[in-house]
Amino acid sequence: MLGIFFKMTQKTRQSKITRRQQFKLFLSIMVSFAVLFLTLGIIIFNLFQSSTYRSIDKDIRNQVVSIKKQPNMAKKEIDPDPHDPDGQNKKPDPKAPFQASILVFDDQGKLLNKSSLGNRYSVLKNIKLNKRNINVKQTLVVKNMNFRSMLIKVSKKNNNPMYAGHYVLIMQNIDTQIQAIENFEKILIITFFIFWVIALVVSYFLSRINMLPIMKSWKQQTEFVNDAAHELRTPLTIIQGKLEYMLTKPNKTIIDEAEAISVSLDEVNRLNSLTNNLLVLARSDSATTQSNFELTTPDFFLKDPIEPFKDIINSQSKVFQINLLHKPVLNLDRDKIKQLLIILLDNATKYTPQNGTIKIYDQIEGSKYQFIISDTGVGVADNDKKKIFGRFYRVDKSRNTNSGGHGLGLAIAKQIVELHHGNIFVRDNLPHGSEFVVELPIKRNH
Ligand code: ADP
Repeated sequence: MLGIFFKMTQKTRQSKITRRQQFKLFLSIMVSFAVLFLTLGIIIFNLFQSSTYRSIDKDIRNQVVSIKKQPNMAKKEIDPDPHDPDGQNKKPDPKAPFQASILVFDDQGKLLNKSSLGNRYSVLKNIKLNKRNINVKQTLVVKNMNFRSMLIKVSKKNNNPMYAGHYVLIMQNIDTQIQAIENFEKILIITFFIFWVIALVVSYFLSRINMLPIMKSWKQQTEFVNDAAHELRTPLTIIQGKLEYMLTKPNKTIIDEAEAISVSLDEVNRLNSLTNNLLVLARSDSATTQSNFELTTPDFFLKDPIEPFKDIINSQSKVFQINLLHKPVLNLDRDKIKQLLIILLDNATKYTPQNGTIKIYDQIEGSKYQFIISDTGVGVADNDKKKIFGRFYRVDKSRNTNSGGHGLGLAIAKQIVELHHGNIFVRDNLPHGSEFVVELPIKRNH
């Protein structure tokens, strides 16, 4: 009851940590995307804005050049046609920008070309001459209208008497451009906001997908440590009990307490094999074991470890049949394959009652070499066929404690087979028992 409660609180704690971790990850992605989009937006906006201003400034520069050089058009402007005093029918300079206006001031700041401004005068009359801004490009706002402007001082030698020796302010209305910039800004903000949201949704799902394998391996690791601790605790408790019991009988001889000593020794052996197995798995997990692969044929199985098993199996009144016929070339780590065979033969012996038969035989299936260890033992239920290769998995826990297993043997066997790029699985041996099939790739070019 307490155990279940503990496990439940542990689970909720874990999912809380996971959620917090996920939230942190999500938050950092959100901020990074925001910074990224913001920077990108500012760069694009500035580029657009500066390119717009650059083209306006270029127009103004052209105007300046044309005024300073050959101001034919301007001449017309200051010498109004007697039939057209307001300059209504004046032909515009084809090069002059559409929305340009030119204001001519004398030294005292008096506007000299009122007449040529037409109805623009009502707006432009508010502009005062500011000599400090000479040759500076400026943005002016007059009665809610925006102008890009530049003031120049025209030399007295200029051909055009209207401009000669005066201040000329070239102005270009930029309301349309400002409107365009504002629209662009709005569109940019909306688009980036939409993409930011899309990026967030995508990254949320991506972060969940990416977290899954991490969570899985984390869960497996925690379970592994929990199971290992549990397995270590049982023999330690037994040894502790036996030792404490012996301490209460200080006058007894070793012979008298032989049973307690032998039980303790058994448990020490169990601990020993458990820690060895744990070490094998841990080393294999962290890929720190050295593998010693060589090209070889399966003959070496026979001498060692198969031969020694004959005596063990026969001594338990069980039959052992060996039927290995094929000799393909395989790339194997011999020691590891021997370890694999010991695990499988040991299990077959352990889970087969007296008078049962244990058999090892081989066959070739396409490009795979298979060796099969079959027994007429208790068999493996369909439900357990995959699970038994998991760590610490035992079908019948009480029975196996007696037979000394920890549920690590087949996990190690699977690791060895995977190291050889092979496959291991269990199937039924009819009418009863099981067959463990190991599939290894054959080296063809040798
Ligand atoms: P154990 O040390 O408990 O034998 P294993 O990993 O070798 O651990 O095996 C896992 C479980 O698979 C065993 O507890 C047993 O229930 C089952 N098993 C393994 N080999 C056989 C077999 N030959 N016949 C029936 N059951 C088996």
